[in-house]
Amino acid sequence: MRILVVEDEAVLSRALRRGLQAEGFAVDVAADGETGLEAALEGDHDVVVLDLMLPGRSGLEVLREMRRAEIWTPVLVLSAKDSDDDVTRGLDVGADDYLAKPFAFSVLVARLRALLRRGAPPRPAVLEAGRLTLDPATREVRQDGALVELTTRETALLEHLMRRPGEVLTKVELRDHVWDAAGDDLNVVEVYVGYLRRKLGKGVIETVRGAGYRVVGR
Ligand code: CA
Repeated sequence: MRILVVEDEAVLSRALRRGLQAEGFAVDVAADGETGLEAALEGDHDVVVLDLMLPGRSGLEVLREMRRAEIWTPVLVLSAKDSDDDVTRGLDVGADDYLAKPFAFSVLVARLRALLRRGAPPRPAVLEAGRLTLDPATREVRQDGALVELTTRETALLEHLMRRPGEVLTKVELRDHVWDAAGDDLNVVEVYVGYLRRKLGKGVIETVRGAGYRVVGR
């Protein structure tokens, strides 16, 4: 298994190389965004560990360019920046996992092994379901090609449904993935499904009685 580590802090980078090699990985290291992107675009790594704050191109730019080039190597984003915004943006542009510094090396290795087990299924950059498209990078939702204005939360809910078109998702699952602090209140899911139906029309999200909701796939 070959890992690419893109990290500009020399001490951390050296420690990661040594530690990961000791775990049996082949390790390539890049110390700036440009070099990291070039290496990642070769596409022959099994997983990429990517710092966000890098000289040259930022980690987010590297990730965006990788996904634009349809390189689906799993990426674990590593950064001292741990605000929700950065996490969300990292995940939006196609990161597979996120670890805030400082972290325990054993945790990093466990996360990497989990990513490696999952592998890199080819994913569409833009989600499609029926007449709808949703671009996770730009947060743009279109219906029959026309832009639909949705709030951040509405987009998050729709995205979660569109990631599994045709599949029934329970209210509990939707609440737990789209709302962090909603407690036990499942009504919030119903309310937001209502908002989406108002903006997208009634045929897009189906209620499956006693089970949950699904987005009509094709
Ligand atoms: Ca850095």
